[in-house]
Parts: sequence; C-alpha cells; structure tokens
Amino acid sequence: MPLLALPSSLEITAYSHQEGRLCVSLLSTQPSSYCPLCGTAAARIHSHYQRRLADLPTAGQPVCFLLSVRKFFCDESTCLRKIFTERLAPFVTPSARGTQRLLQIVQVIGLATGGRLGVRVTDRLGIQTSLHTILRRIMAKPPEPVGAVSQIGIDDFSFRRGRTFGTLIMDLQTRKVLDVLPDRTADTSAAWMAAHPEIELVSRDRGGDYASAARKVVPEATQTADRFHLLKNLGEALEGLLARHLAAHRKRQAETAKAVPIQTSQAGELPKVFPTSVALSWAKREQRLAQYQQMVALREQGFSQPAIAEQVGIGHATVSRWLKNGTFPEQKPRSRSASVDPYLPQLVERWKEGLSTVAELHRELVADGYSHQYNFVYRQLARSFPEERQKRCTRSLPEGQKKQEISKQLPRPPVLARQAMFLFLRGPEGLETKEQETLMLLRSLHPEVDQAYELVQQFAHMLRTRTGERLDDWLGKVKESRIRELQGFVVGVIQDKAAVVAGLTLLQSNGLVEGKVNKLKLIKRMGYGRANFPLLRQRVLHAL
Ligand SMILES: [Zn+2]
Repeated sequence: MPLLALPSSLEITAYSHQEGRLCVSLLSTQPSSYCPLCGTAAARIHSHYQRRLADLPTAGQPVCFLLSVRKFFCDESTCLRKIFTERLAPFVTPSARGTQRLLQIVQVIGLATGGRLGVRVTDRLGIQTSLHTILRRIMAKPPEPVGAVSQIGIDDFSFRRGRTFGTLIMDLQTRKVLDVLPDRTADTSAAWMAAHPEIELVSRDRGGDYASAARKVVPEATQTADRFHLLKNLGEALEGLLARHLAAHRKRQAETAKAVPIQTSQAGELPKVFPTSVALSWAKREQRLAQYQQMVALREQGFSQPAIAEQVGIGHATVSRWLKNGTFPEQKPRSRSASVDPYLPQLVERWKEGLSTVAELHRELVADGYSHQYNFVYRQLARSFPEERQKRCTRSLPEGQKKQEISKQLPRPPVLARQAMFLFLRGPEGLETKEQETLMLLRSLHPEVDQAYELVQQFAHMLRTRTGERLDDWLGKVKESRIRELQGFVVGVIQDKAAVVAGLTLLQSNGLVEGKVNKLKLIKRMGYGRANFPLLRQRVLHAL
C-alpha cells in the first residue's frame, strides 16, 4: 500500500521539505498521450517541463507536487495541432495549480461554509487556498439538470434585510429545491414554469403573482393554496381578534385596580373596511395602549418599574421609556433603512470592554444622537456575540422575592395575542396542563373568543383530515358568527376558493411546508444580500 495515492503513470523520484511543506517530485512515465484535438496517441516527445501542484495535506503536512511532464508532437498529418502538453486526467487538468481531488474538497468546503468561513476551515486543515479560489469553486459546480417535474411548490423568501425577495421552487415529490430565482415577480416565475409545460400541480401562497404566472403558462395545472399560508393567514386574523379582546381585558383590569382616569379618547374604533393587515395593526395598537394603561395604573399603586415590567409582560426599558414620556407612545411607521451600522464599531468596542449592560450602552448611544430603540441594540449585540447572549443580554428582572410578592397581589398576567394565537391553532391533545389553563382563561374572556376557538379548530381539523368538502359549511358558519376579524379571512378564501379546496383536500400540497423550512433556515443563516444572489443560489441548490 503506497503512502501517497497516485495514478500508476506517476513515479515518485524524490522527497524534500520546503517552507513547511512536503514536496514530492513526480515523473510521468506514460509512454504516450492522446492528442486533445484529433485523439491520436502521440509518443514523440517535444520537451520536458515542470509543474507545481498543490495536493491535499497528508498526516498533518501540506503537500505539493513537483511534476515533471512532457510536450508531445502530434504526428497525425491532417491534425492542426502540432504540439500539445501531456494529459493526466482525471488526476489533474491541464492548467490547474492543484490536483482534482484538492479542488473537489475545496468545493465541498465552500458549498458547506460559504466563503469566509471556508478560508478558516481550509487554513486549519492545512489546505492552501484563498477566498477567491473557494468562491470560484462554488460557482464552478454545474446545477443538476431539473428534468421532468409534475408537482411544484413555489414560495418567496426575503434576502438579508427583508426588503427584497427571491423565489424558491421545490419539487413536491422529491422535496428537493429545483431552483432559486432572484425576485418574486410573475414574469420571472412564469419564465421558469414555461420551461416545464409538464407541470400538473402548483402549490403556492395566496398572493396573486405566482397564481397568475401559473394560470398564464401552465393553465392546465391544478393550483392549490399552500397549507402553511392558509394557516398563517388564519392565524393573523385570529391574532387580531385575540389582541382586541386581550386589550379590553387589560383595560378592565386596570380599571378595577382603581387607576387614575386614562385617556380613553385615544382608543380608536376598528375601521369599517378592514383587510387582515389593517385589523391586525389596529389590534396591536389596542394591545399596546392597554399595556400602557395598565402600566400607568400600576405605577399609581406604587409598583416599581421592574415589577411593572414583570406584570405587563414587556421589557424594563420599554416601561421606563413609556412612563417617562407621559403619553401613549404611538408607533412610528417602521423605518425600513433602520440600521445601527454607523454606531456599530463604537458599540462593539464598548461591549468588548465588558463593563456595561445593554441598557447602559443604549443610553450612551442615545446621548450621541442615536435614534434606535433598546431592542435594536440588544438584537445587534446578541447577533454579534451569541455566546454572551445568556450572560449579559438578558434583561434585568426583579429579584425572586419581589416577584412572589407581586404574584400574590395580582391575577396572572394575560398572555400576548401572538402566543394566544398559537394556543388556538394547536390541537388540544398536544397542550400541557399550564397551556390548557391559559387556553380556558382565554376562551372565557368573551363568547366571541370561545366561538372563534371552535371555528379555528374546525379549520385546522379540515387541514389535518383533508376534508376540503366541508369548506362551504365552515365559511357559512364564520359568516354567521359575525366575528369581524375572521370575515377578512373568509373574503380572501372565497376569492381563491378552488385552490383552497384543493389545498385542503390534496395530499400533495403539504409537502412544501416541511421540506421548505430547513432550506429557508439555511438561507437565513447564510444571510446573503441580493448582491450575492448567484452564490446563494449555488449553495441552496447544492446544499448538503
Ligand atoms: Zn492531433
């Protein structure tokens, strides 16, 4: 068994050490080589020359080859090529500076790690390469041919900052990612589908673009509403309803706590026309307002800020800020270019000194004219220093004793609408005792909430048992209930009814969800911006 795996036509002539590397001199001994142009075997030698090749490290040492190769004359009279360099495929390609096996490993590492991390990994492994080479190797891998596909799932994902979107297309039968597209327009997805007229089923979200693309290009294909999105939309409607009732509940609590008069005039009325998103943001505002009112009430009773934070269920810094303002803080529309970046170096420096809490650093930044909230700084630091997250990023909580004292005096704080929503969507059999108690409490808030729970469970049951034929019945019940948040969901369902029934009924349409999640997580973790789209696409398509 030889120490080095080499093709039989290469003979080792010497070993040496150069710059910490094991250098192996190799001589090519094959008697002839085939002309790359005409394929004739050539044996007449023109000249010798030396190539330097990097190889995989062996037993802890980087390895390089000093390879003696030859040029041959092509003696085939009709061939245009007169001289050519000897071919040593598949060991090494003609102009490469590394062996084929080295380049393959670099490619595997590149696809698994991205680029920058790959440099660190290869460095530790004793593989000499560069970021540039790793990126080139990632891009060099040809995509697997897609072939015939009959059922696709199509969905969007956001690039790093969440402002731009791409599209992920999956084969629902093999659960493999078929392609990643650089945007989510109807045109781009239609162009992809046009290359696959054999498509029989398209599972998509309830946005119109993918639907219209499929209608146009593969009109014969069955369209189904993706079950994940159905549940998500229903969940949003439900969250609005829960937020409204939880807000009312908090208000009642605050009033029984004999609060000072609260600016009730700020409580808005739900607009008459309410797409789900509007209802949801309205309900969220109601929830914030109720939290604020509860906060004021608790302060009037002499509770400390940490105690209030604990009771209301929001961060200490928020409590402090809201109370300092003296009025209900309306939420500004989210600034889309929000970024801590110009302040980031300063922030990281101060954090590394290890003396300050997040709250202290945030105060410092604000003093320097910084306009973002505590949470933003918290997230930035948690992201930059994940290992310290537990230690120093945790919010300050009151001491155990204080906590107990409070819990004796006050009823349990209500959950947030979002948590409540998940309790409503889950099957009752999967809930723990404490969750069941919370669920009972929520359902007892108002007959409407109780009714909504029944309706939502019926819908989830249709999804689980694939009994889409009951949809009409269900839609009728929801209309009858007059629960306003759910009406918006119903309107959307009716507009897309054929696809929703198919989504509720067909077995295929749930494949996307499970298969997709991991791929999407991978994308998020990689954190690529739009600019690096080709690299992102390669990595998703060749994900290990
Ligand atoms: Zn030739």
